[in-house]
Amino acid sequence: MSSLEERQAALRKLHAEMRACRKCQEAGFPTVPGAIFSGDASARIMIIGQAPGKVEAFGTKKPFSGPAGKRLMRWMEEAGWTEEEFRREAYITAVTKCFPGPGKNGRGDRAPTARERELCRPFLERELAIVDPEVVAPVGRLAIVYFLGNSIRLADVIGHSFQVDGRIVVPLPHPSGASAWANSAANQKRIRKALAILRDLRPGLRPE
Ligand code: SF4
Repeated sequence: MSSLEERQAALRKLHAEMRACRKCQEAGFPTVPGAIFSGDASARIMIIGQAPGKVEAFGTKKPFSGPAGKRLMRWMEEAGWTEEEFRREAYITAVTKCFPGPGKNGRGDRAPTARERELCRPFLERELAIVDPEVVAPVGRLAIVYFLGNSIRLADVIGHSFQVDGRIVVPLPHPSGASAWANSAANQKRIRKALAILRDLRPGLRPE
């Protein structure tokens, strides 16, 4: 795409469309309207989560600002960014941009269905095309499979980087405390390896 100024303008237009979107509600899902994302077209790294949670939807309106976000920010500190630097330098979004609502049993959030992910996919495709980041860090399985396909095992991909469509993809697990995966010693090692990859890449990721 063209100059940074033109990309910023295209992104502002896309953000307005995302904020106004009600496709999931119109399709009958209990999704809470209000797309959550942050950052601009100058970012060279994009973080893609699963979906915002209730803290983001009803409180801060800032991605990754609930309990899972706190853990993610601790990981980013390990990768060399303070939270303030990270929020300034990264474009942060999600596979589905709106809070899907609580899970059935009242524990955790409802995972967005395949249909909701499909409805929201064109927005993510446009964000990637406009921001055009060098590095993408998909956070959690739903975001990782978008780049690496459904058949992946977290243990095989966390701690590694991949070239996908000319970008470097560095997968991270979901940082939710409810995720048992991230707590085992072997998987902690994999996470440390992934953060070391990001730390090595960081010098080339200053915003334009
Ligand atoms: S999750 Fe995506 S497709 Fe669904 S209403 Fe929100 S912005 Fe629209």
